[in-house]
Amino acid sequence: MPYIQFLGAAGTVTGSKHLINTTYDASGKQGFQVLIDCGLFQGPKEWRERNWQDTPVPAREIDAVVLTHAHLDHCGWLPRLVKEGFRGPIYATPATIDLCSVVLPDSGHLQEEDAEFHNKKGTSKHSPALPLYTLEEAQDCLKSFKPVEVETTTQLCPELSFRFVRAAHILGSCMAEVELKTNGQARRLLFTGDIGRVRDSQVAPGKVVHSGPQEGESADLLVMESTYGNRQHPDTDPRPELARLIRQTVERGGTVVVPAFAVERTQKFVFILKALMESGQIPRIPVTCDSPMAIKAVEIYMKHSEEYTPRAAELIRKYGSPTEWPGFTFALTAEQSKKINDSQFPSVIISSSGMATGGRILHHLAQRLPDPRNLVLFIGFQAPGTRGATIKEGASEVKIFGEFIPIRAQVAALEQFSDHADPPELLEWLHTFTSQPGVTYLVHGEPQASSQLRDLMKKELGWNVQVAAYMEKVEVK
Ligand SMILES: [Zn+2]
Repeated sequence: MPYIQFLGAAGTVTGSKHLINTTYDASGKQGFQVLIDCGLFQGPKEWRERNWQDTPVPAREIDAVVLTHAHLDHCGWLPRLVKEGFRGPIYATPATIDLCSVVLPDSGHLQEEDAEFHNKKGTSKHSPALPLYTLEEAQDCLKSFKPVEVETTTQLCPELSFRFVRAAHILGSCMAEVELKTNGQARRLLFTGDIGRVRDSQVAPGKVVHSGPQEGESADLLVMESTYGNRQHPDTDPRPELARLIRQTVERGGTVVVPAFAVERTQKFVFILKALMESGQIPRIPVTCDSPMAIKAVEIYMKHSEEYTPRAAELIRKYGSPTEWPGFTFALTAEQSKKINDSQFPSVIISSSGMATGGRILHHLAQRLPDPRNLVLFIGFQAPGTRGATIKEGASEVKIFGEFIPIRAQVAALEQFSDHADPPELLEWLHTFTSQPGVTYLVHGEPQASSQLRDLMKKELGWNVQVAAYMEKVEVK
């Protein structure tokens, strides 16, 4: 019997990896094996350690990867998979491939920096500490990518084919509709990847991709994300609050530090800042996007104009490219990044990683957290166990570069910028299904989020919903 095995993002929000095994083919030899996503585990150590474990089936026996989108928790283990012997194609949309060509080498670079840091400080139990993969290995893995347009069917083997449909989560993001032939019958498996917000209203401003996931879906087996399974996004416009927080920080001579993913979130946020400045709601203070990736991501966004919502298209028509706005700087080199530390004037610094797990944001936090004039503003999900979650929860200190940094800066969070649908939005989308899936497995959620969403779906839809467990195998009947 063909099966799916959940190799990640089960019981947690990172490390997305779902293996489909057809278990046999017509000639009776070993089945075709496809990974849907190949993400990095992030956050608590017990999960991160799994980045170092082998896949339950050898990497060289996996035949293909279908990638839903370019976030690291979905694509960040690909270079390691290739390093371990995977030789098949990695299918993704052209926009996802463009973003991966920026995100993966950067991840390799960070892995190398991490290993170097541990070797210098002697803080690893391994000697020498090695990177999970290097920048060069990440670049190497890009050669395996094969572009696939949305809504085009790709045959993987006689039993398996797939098609991408819009997920509206980030640029290039898609769900994977997989068709599996078993015992002469066709079964449709739908892997949602991450699902974007269904409504692109005033409460979710600045969205730069298609609004809402593909409606009218159907599936025999649905594998769905549940990141926001136990929380609802506020239904207020975040912009007045954002403007107030920035004005207050400027008045006390402080700087606003925003940890944000360099991809999507940063682009969305700078357009909102620009609009607030142009309408006079915040002063024209310098804005620095401190990420070598952010500028490349902006260029990729400008290239893929087919993905804009009408409102995003209008903003771009009105203001042009963020790379050309006066007062907005994109720091590329480490040198430029360090210079920002010298500046004491009120400014906005946007830097990654979004959950403060690594990257240049750490320097900015280490420098700005001890000063009560500053503001640290979260505009994205903070996975438990990350530094971002520690700071957001109101801790009095946080460990950065092996040192405890006191947290005296103001800490605030705006939840409206999320790129994930919340339970009412998910239900709204699920109601558009043309038929009820035989079974739904919830993945990509903390245990509480997944189980609350399961209960809600059972109650509201009457569906057969289960929470996927790490390493669990489920048969496709
Ligand atoms: Zn994502």
